[in-house]
Amino acid sequence: MDVALARAWLDAAADALAARTEELTSLDAAIGDSDHGVNMNRGFGAVRTALAGASPAGPGAVFTLAGTTLVSKVGGASGPLYGSAFRALGKALPEGAEVDAAAFGAGLRAGLDALVKLGGAAPGDKTIVDAYAPAVDAYDAALREHGGDGDGGLAAAARAAAGAAAEGMRATVPLQARKGRASYLGERSIGHQDPGATSTWLIFQALADAAA
Ligand code: ADP
Ligand code: MG
Ligand code: MG
Repeated sequence: MDVALARAWLDAAADALAARTEELTSLDAAIGDSDHGVNMNRGFGAVRTALAGASPAGPGAVFTLAGTTLVSKVGGASGPLYGSAFRALGKALPEGAEVDAAAFGAGLRAGLDALVKLGGAAPGDKTIVDAYAPAVDAYDAALREHGGDGDGGLAAAARAAAGAAAEGMRATVPLQARKGRASYLGERSIGHQDPGATSTWLIFQALADAAA
């Protein structure tokens, strides 16, 4: 993972979130307040602008800037949650122009830990965590299985992560929400896919696409 790949990931994520804004918003219309697509699109658009005007020395600095931007530009629950995750990822990475696939995986887990610390969600609560946690587990398992040599290791691990995020996202449908706005609906939150788990899948899919 180098600065170019870090930028390519966030760019691909911004593209995907822009293309799926309406879809994310309609998922949030069912169990929230209809703004998740707009929040994510605004946030990652602002990340794109911030990065265009910056010269980060390493991937850690790219993600720290992305996280800080998300925290400051997105008003909904998702801004501080994703912002903290990206900031923690950035701060967890060793300094230098390039970090290996294992260090990047540890950074992804630090991001998950920060998000859980802030939001207090457990797996099964129908949140971002339901896609993020299995993605990080799958990333680590793929690295252990195939080795982390070069960008091939990162690409394979990212592909595994995206697949697990998709599965986790789909598995939110039958769950009852226990965190966030959707939890106010109680049992009426059952039967709908969680918007945040969906954006998390898009972000991991963007990583897999950028790293391929
Ligand atoms: P808001 O709910 O403030 O309008 P968004 O619509 O942007 O914010 O984001 C909603 C998503 O945020 C939910 O679908 C859920 O996945 C996620 N979310 C909400 N609360 C939490 C939490 N405590 N932990 C993890 N994810 C959460
Ligand atoms: Mg919302
Ligand atoms: Mg809102």
